[in-house]
Amino acid sequence: MDGKADLHLHTSYSDGAFTPQDLLAHASRAGLTILSITDHDNTGALREAMELGSTLGIEVISGVELSTTVDAQDIHLLGYFIDPENEILQEHLAIFRAERLRRAERIVQKLHELKLPLPFEAVLARAGTASIGRPHIAAALVEAGLVDNYQAAFGRYLGFGKPAYERKYQVSPREAIRMVADAGGLSFIAHPGNAIDERVLFALIKEGVDGIEVVHPSHSSERTAYYRGIAEEYFLLTSGGSDFHGGRRNDLDVLGRFSVPAEAVDKMRRRLR
Ligand code: AMP
Ligand code: ZN
Ligand code: FE
Ligand code: FE
Repeated sequence: MDGKADLHLHTSYSDGAFTPQDLLAHASRAGLTILSITDHDNTGALREAMELGSTLGIEVISGVELSTTVDAQDIHLLGYFIDPENEILQEHLAIFRAERLRRAERIVQKLHELKLPLPFEAVLARAGTASIGRPHIAAALVEAGLVDNYQAAFGRYLGFGKPAYERKYQVSPREAIRMVADAGGLSFIAHPGNAIDERVLFALIKEGVDGIEVVHPSHSSERTAYYRGIAEEYFLLTSGGSDFHGGRRNDLDVLGRFSVPAEAVDKMRRRLR
């Protein structure tokens, strides 16, 4: 099968701006034929997207993005081909989302202490039914006129080490890999070029990830080639995508530009058999 696969996309079920429907319409126009929606701690978009995809001739593969931590480093893992109905997975995702809500409350509390009177309700309204996160708080801060723009909200308050920063509840990579495997899926190290040092990368490989996200907007072509080489050497699968969030990060132009061939998805399927 040929085609272009974007295996890293966010919707309004996490911190993406687009509903699954709008995302699929944009992806279709961008010439993509295979998608994976990988919302943070949330699989709510999948069923709808799969149904819509079949009417548009787009294959939608189930996905999720999980946050894990190693030595205070943030490690994101992508799970593909998970069964969204898996009860244990859903129990964990529900816990992650509940913890996100408590963390958002703590962040807003810190903002109040910093004399930024952001009503928590404004953040909740921004998030709707999504996995709540800092992007919703940043957007609410901008909307309330308390900061100039989204980047400044992170740069001054919400980013790592900034005064309103709060850690997220996170599991170890081992636990996340286990969760994904138990739900019938394959786990991939997300955008390793972002923050993951080599020692951690090899530790994750040892823990049993199935693959590496080699194509990502944050990766130079040299980085992509480097990770491809590691994947080959360790018999790992490769994936890639745009990490599209619907314009929130000035990323409206990424759709169609970051993809992997359909063959990468075929290889995942073969590994699962
Ligand atoms: P959270 O899951 O609540 O920790 O939020 C993580 C999301 O916040 C990331 O996926 C990015 O979209 C966004 N983010 C994190 N750090 C920054 C930053 N320094 N500037 C802009 N966006 C950021
Ligand atoms: Zn995100
Ligand atoms: Fe990520
Ligand atoms: Fe992502």
